[in-house]
Amino acid sequence: RRAAALVLGLAATAGLAGCAGASGDATGDAPLVGVAMPTTTSARWIADGENLQRQLDALGYTVDLEYAEDDVPTQVAQLEQMITDGADALVVGAIDGTALKGVLAKAAAADIPIVSYDRLIRDSPDVDYYASFDNWRVGVLQATSLLQGLGVVDETGARTSAPGPFSVELFAGSPDDNNATVFYNGAMSVLTPLIDSGVLVVPSGQTEFTAIATQGWSGDVAAERMTTLLPLYQGTGVHLDGVLSPYDGISRSIIATVSGLGGTLPVVSGQDAELDSVKSIVAGEQYSTVYKDTRQLAEVAVSMVRALLDGTEPEVNDTTTYDNGQKVVPSYLLAPQLVTVENYEPVLIESGYYEAGDL
Ligand code: BGC
Repeated sequence: RRAAALVLGLAATAGLAGCAGASGDATGDAPLVGVAMPTTTSARWIADGENLQRQLDALGYTVDLEYAEDDVPTQVAQLEQMITDGADALVVGAIDGTALKGVLAKAAAADIPIVSYDRLIRDSPDVDYYASFDNWRVGVLQATSLLQGLGVVDETGARTSAPGPFSVELFAGSPDDNNATVFYNGAMSVLTPLIDSGVLVVPSGQTEFTAIATQGWSGDVAAERMTTLLPLYQGTGVHLDGVLSPYDGISRSIIATVSGLGGTLPVVSGQDAELDSVKSIVAGEQYSTVYKDTRQLAEVAVSMVRALLDGTEPEVNDTTTYDNGQKVVPSYLLAPQLVTVENYEPVLIESGYYEAGDL
C-alpha cells in the first residue's frame, strides 16, 4: 500500500513533465532514451516495452526500444548502438545480469545514466538506479500459495491441521537472472521448514537451486525436466500434489506435461499474471500467479530517467537490499500481489489491467 501511494506520487510528478520543459539536452533536441528489453517471447516483456514507450513518449522523449530475444550478444550490440546514437539515458532489462559490464562502462564513460529495469545488473559499478518489485516477497507469495492450495496453511497463512506428507517438485528460474535466486530464496524460506518436518516431500530429491533452475526461463526446458520426473509418479501410487513454479510460461508447460498423469492436477504457482495463465486459473488448472503491475514499474523507471535527465535525485525506497557485487544499487521496489481464482476479478479486471472480455 505504501509503495502504491508513492507510485501515485511519482505518476503525478511525471504528469507535470510535459509542460515543465525541464528536460532536454544541450542542443535543444528531445533526449534520446534507449530501452533494452530481453525478449518478446513472454507477454510481460511486451507489456513492459509498450508501457515504457508510451510513458517516455508522453514526456516528449525520443525512444529507441529494442528486444534481444534472449540472446546476450544481441543485447550488447543493441546497447553499443544506443551509445553510438547518442543516447541520453538507458533503461535495461538484462538477459544475463553479469554480461553487461563492458558495454555499461562505455555508457558511463559517455556520462549516460543507467537504470536497471526489473532485473539487477550485476558485477558493474555503472548501474545508477534499480526499478523492480520486492523479489524476495514474490518467492514468499509463490510458496505460500502452494501451501494454501495444498491446504497446509489457511488463507491467513496460518498452519492448518493437515498432516501431509504432500509430494511436491520445485522449479526455479534462469541462473543468469539475479531475480531467479531471489525468488528461490524467498520461496525456500517458507518451504524448507516444512520439508525438514516431513509435511512436504520432494520425491526427486532435487531442491538445490542449481538442480532445479530453468535456463532462459524456457517452458520447453522445464517440460523436459518434468518429463524426466514423471516415472516417480507413473504407476507408483505417488500422487504429485504440488509444483513450485517461478513463472507463468513455465507453469503452463508443467501443467501440460503432467496432465497425462491423470487424476487431479497438482497445485501450481506462477508469476506475471500472463493472460493465458489467468485463463488457466479461471479454468481451474493453474492455481496461482503473482501479479506485478508493469504499468507501475514503467512509471518508476520513467520517473528515474526523468530525474536523472533533469539533474535531480530519483526517488528510491530501498538502499540496502540490492548489492550487485560492486555496489549497493539504490532501488525503488514495488509490491507484488498474489492472484488466485478468488481475487482475479478485483485485482486484474477492476484495476483495468485486463478487460473481462480478454478472459
Ligand atoms: C521477472 C519475472 C519473469 C521472469 C521471466 C524475471 O526477471 O522478474 O517477472 O517471470 O523474469 O521472464
